[in-house]
Amino acid sequence: MTSLSNRLNQSDVFQTKTSLCRSAVGKGCRRVSCDSSGSPDLSTDVETRVLVINTGGTIGMILHDGVLSPEPNALVKTLRTLPILHDEPYAQRTKLYEYYKSADKTLVLPRSKLDKRIVYTFLEYSPLLDSSNMTPKDWMTIGKDIEKYYEEYDGFVVLHGTDTMAYTASALSFMCENLGKPVVLTGSQVPIFEMRSDGRDNLLGALLIAGQFVIPEVCLYFHHKLYRGNRVTKVDSGSFKAFASPNLPPLANFEVDISINWDTVWRPSITAKFTVNTQMNQNVGLLRLFPGITTETVKAFLTAPMDGVILETYGSGNAPDNRQDLLDEIRKATERGLIIVNCTQCLKGTVTISYATGQALSKAGVVAGFDMTPEAALSKLSYVLAKQDISKEEKRKMLSRNLRGEMVADLEGAKLSLSDSRFIQVIARSLSIGCKEELEAIRNALTPALACAAAKNGDTEALEAIREMGTDLSLANYDGRTPLHIAACEGQVKVVQYLLSKGATVFVKDRFGDTPLRNAIHLRRKDVVELLRKCGAHLSPDELQDTGTELCRLAASGDLEGLKIWKLAGVDMAMPGYDGKKPTEVARTWKHNEVADFLLA
Ligand code: ASP
Repeated sequence: MTSLSNRLNQSDVFQTKTSLCRSAVGKGCRRVSCDSSGSPDLSTDVETRVLVINTGGTIGMILHDGVLSPEPNALVKTLRTLPILHDEPYAQRTKLYEYYKSADKTLVLPRSKLDKRIVYTFLEYSPLLDSSNMTPKDWMTIGKDIEKYYEEYDGFVVLHGTDTMAYTASALSFMCENLGKPVVLTGSQVPIFEMRSDGRDNLLGALLIAGQFVIPEVCLYFHHKLYRGNRVTKVDSGSFKAFASPNLPPLANFEVDISINWDTVWRPSITAKFTVNTQMNQNVGLLRLFPGITTETVKAFLTAPMDGVILETYGSGNAPDNRQDLLDEIRKATERGLIIVNCTQCLKGTVTISYATGQALSKAGVVAGFDMTPEAALSKLSYVLAKQDISKEEKRKMLSRNLRGEMVADLEGAKLSLSDSRFIQVIARSLSIGCKEELEAIRNALTPALACAAAKNGDTEALEAIREMGTDLSLANYDGRTPLHIAACEGQVKVVQYLLSKGATVFVKDRFGDTPLRNAIHLRRKDVVELLRKCGAHLSPDELQDTGTELCRLAASGDLEGLKIWKLAGVDMAMPGYDGKKPTEVARTWKHNEVADFLLA
């Protein structure tokens, strides 16, 4: 670690000599060493970066003539005056504003319990919207901005009105394909400027998640709880507890401690890069059944231009089976190619075919939506219907499959429970314990270490056994190192492949701030670098800090193989070293012409 004074001088060099760390929104991250009085090296603050996309909503509204409306540029100004949401002395001491060059939009939280400094930068939309005015076009804008700034930030917070937040969260969860970083939506019931507001807590919670935990999901944070975005629904307009997730427990609870329910965190099971797919079919709708609904109403609703309909049925997916007229309309529509998905009107529970009344719908060609919320079902339908390259039948199959943790389909959930694990049972017996909490504690203590050992030895079978115990294979050991870090270092390609296919996150940093990609580069594990890149891994701005100098060092020693690995890792080979010289110039100076040619190519 450099001392404070050194670091500040170096940061001046960085600002003038590299393209890092400069732009109104984004780029760059620092590691800062200082104590609260500014003395060097007594402790280390690792900065993480969060982009806050402000779309509007009550959180930033001001009362004008008795009516609440969004107020442009007001939020950042106010937050800057709140010590709990902005540490101005730290910003001054560490020249934060000079470093990030976006002084008017960037703030920094006080040091967190995990010794992190979350630096957050605002991207404010214009006009700011009440979420009742939002449309799929606005979801696309948010999705595109997440894609645009994806590599520059560790996580994203989206400030949003509560009225349609569940719709946006659901839509973003489908649009964001192979997401590897947290996207957290939040807002408030009372403007942040008011004395009794939930906005300050909600923003703080969302920032702490986005800046500290690699939860690769679109989530919603509200009133001390983090939910999966496509599982929530707004249930109360007059309470701070505005949202519920009836069919899935929260991903995290903010009590005295923050406890993350890692077993519930959703992870993609394919190895592919993050992209945002903004194609949504808008010819979709929600039709709620009610006793006495007329055939004409149903018929009118199911006609063109409608391409897909969510049918909100009774109880566990029932519709009257004594109304042949209705069932005929539904059957005719599905035969014409309209896709109809069956969701329950109940807040909690799932669609099954245990009643004759439910079977009648499935016989009429209706797809089971299991326990999806109407918001999730609608956006999933819109997302699936917009796919150009698959057939109608494949679309129907896709709708009945779990894509982003939005539902539990009937045949899923066969996960072994903790008590099924022989391994844990043996240990539990020898320690004479039996209760679930104690078993869980043993599992949590043992399995990260076991998984790391298995990763080192290339033992995918052991990893699979550990996973079957219900363990999250992204859990880290005492050094914050995950099995993926270990496999990357050891060049265990098969293990890396296996872990990625089980959703291991590529963005987790160990206590030294290193990702598995950085480990693989340093140990020259070419195949691993390739695999990780396929999954969208990239070096964080923080990790890139000294890269120019490293490239120059390799260029000076004519180390072509070393340079090739960095290139494979997607690094800009023209990054200058500490003295502003580019690697090509250095290679020429040292007469390594082959290296210089490679760098130029
Ligand atoms: N009407 C507001 C909105 O959805 C309500 C809120 O933010 O809570 O934008």
